[in-house]
Amino acid sequence: MPLAKRTLELIEEIYPICRSITGNGVRETLARVGRQIPVEVHEVASGTRMFDWTVPPEWNIRDAYIADSTGRRIVDFKRNNLHVMSYSVPIRARMRLEALRPHLHSLPDRPDWIPHRTSYYQENWGFCLSHRQLESLPDDEYEVIIDSELKPGALTYGEYRIPGASSEEFVLFTHTCHPSLCNDNASGIALLATLAGELAKQKPRLSYRFVFAPTTIGSIVWLARNGNAISSIRAGLVVGLVGDAAALTYKRSRRGDTEVDRIAIQVLREIDPTSRSIDFTPLGYDERQFCSPGFNLPVGRLTRSVNGGYPEYHTSADDLGLMRTEALAESLLAVSRILARVDANRRFLNLNPQCEPRLGDRGLLGNLGGGVTRTEMEQAMLWLLNQSDGRHGISDIAAASGLSPETLDSAAIGLVGADLLREMGPAPDHSRGVG
Ligand code: ZN
Repeated sequence: MPLAKRTLELIEEIYPICRSITGNGVRETLARVGRQIPVEVHEVASGTRMFDWTVPPEWNIRDAYIADSTGRRIVDFKRNNLHVMSYSVPIRARMRLEALRPHLHSLPDRPDWIPHRTSYYQENWGFCLSHRQLESLPDDEYEVIIDSELKPGALTYGEYRIPGASSEEFVLFTHTCHPSLCNDNASGIALLATLAGELAKQKPRLSYRFVFAPTTIGSIVWLARNGNAISSIRAGLVVGLVGDAAALTYKRSRRGDTEVDRIAIQVLREIDPTSRSIDFTPLGYDERQFCSPGFNLPVGRLTRSVNGGYPEYHTSADDLGLMRTEALAESLLAVSRILARVDANRRFLNLNPQCEPRLGDRGLLGNLGGGVTRTEMEQAMLWLLNQSDGRHGISDIAAASGLSPETLDSAAIGLVGADLLREMGPAPDHSRGVG
């Protein structure tokens, strides 16, 4: 099955689940992801201190509704889980509209959509409904039921690591905390699950770690618990909002010109000239934590629309109708090409550095595959030989020569086989002033 279609199917499967930053909706989502990849589930107890934060109590909900005086459920969590403000404390009461009104949330500008509201760190309760319905509510006595639980439990996140030849890691993070919203972020969860399944079939050079966790508190918890792994992070991407029709958007890391920044911007340019790159800001998703100054990691973000950047954002209209198979396919292509380019971005040492070696005599310009011409291959070899002084990686040589990293990669494999180059490990990190 095409990967985009498989991704869409997983989106359809997890879309109805009521997720939040903690609770059974997250566990159920990870269990569905676990049918595709062996994701390891971690539980961190409520009350655990993590940097300046504390893991919140766990929230679960069974049912919630508002019924009118005839007993008819006019707002029903079972019809759409966005109807309840996430983290609503339990309530069981009868009240007039006037008392209920401050707990009702709607979008006057989008009168048919239900907003998504949360109150994670302040005890409160609320219902969300279309503005049209809110306006039409008669003065009546309403029965208000939220059958939820907010008590000590755990925060749940999932992790899947694919070991490569190197212990250096590429981290991919996506947020799992949003309820029935498709682009934000059933799309990110499903895309990373699909991609991880494909990558596990290959033999990557780098190791890959996929993290499925709630936004903010999830990345904070992950960073606090993975002190050892952090020093091995070669690059990372926060991935989300990858299924809508908007053009791809890359948000640079705080450092701005790291390997992943340069490669991601180049890949997006190749895939879609209308794609864009934006500078780092301390607002958005979990790149804020990875790029906090105490970590300052080479972690960028890939989305299509950005947070807050499309009308359906955080509303019931962010539904399956917003998903585009072509967009998912393009997002999959972008992420997998970024990973492949970083994976292949290594440096070499020329073992025959005094004048050019004779390539033809070594049979290096014979059987060329993959549509690469003899001229391109020869150029790639000459560029590699000239620049392989240990200070330039494949990505640098691609930028200088205009040749594709894939051509340079296969040329390098040939030169290593002919004992003209020796692999020296990952490309230097110029953003730290090295090389
Ligand atoms: Zn969001």
